[in-house]
Amino acid sequence: MYGGVTTAADLKKIAEVAEKYDVPLVKLTGGQRIGLFGINKEDLPAMWEDLGMPSGYAYGKTLRTVKTCVGEKFCRFGTQDSMGLGIELEKKFERLDTPHKVKMGVSACPRNCAESGIKDIGFVGVDGGWEIYIGGNGGTDLRAATCLILLKLKKRQWK
Ligand code: SF4
Repeated sequence: MYGGVTTAADLKKIAEVAEKYDVPLVKLTGGQRIGLFGINKEDLPAMWEDLGMPSGYAYGKTLRTVKTCVGEKFCRFGTQDSMGLGIELEKKFERLDTPHKVKMGVSACPRNCAESGIKDIGFVGVDGGWEIYIGGNGGTDLRAATCLILLKLKKRQWK
């Protein structure tokens, strides 16, 4: 679910697998993913096969998730395409080995619905560009991120 975005077809597939393997808990995670919890270890290979989706990164020292808000397409406050940027970032940096877990957030305005201000790397859309934040943490050592730079970009110029 790149950027926390899914489809009706994928949701149906997940529901079918959850029913077939009698999954005890289906829960939306804090990283905007769907977690299937409490399953039998021996069911895992068959479940992945049925799902036909890559595994997520809930535990690794790598990019975990990029959380996004709905952005300019679906929110009247949005100034940028937060879902588009979040999906691009996640595809570019997934599977990267890092010294510690890395979380990112992309919000399309300073209201910050994707919690960009408490992510390792956060993006906040403003008129004409993106503010980029680093060093935030929403864990045991709560820390507001520091604004690194204001990147002035035309729309969809982040690639
Ligand atoms: S961060 Fe801003 S643009 Fe994104 S959903 Fe929240 S209010 Fe809307």
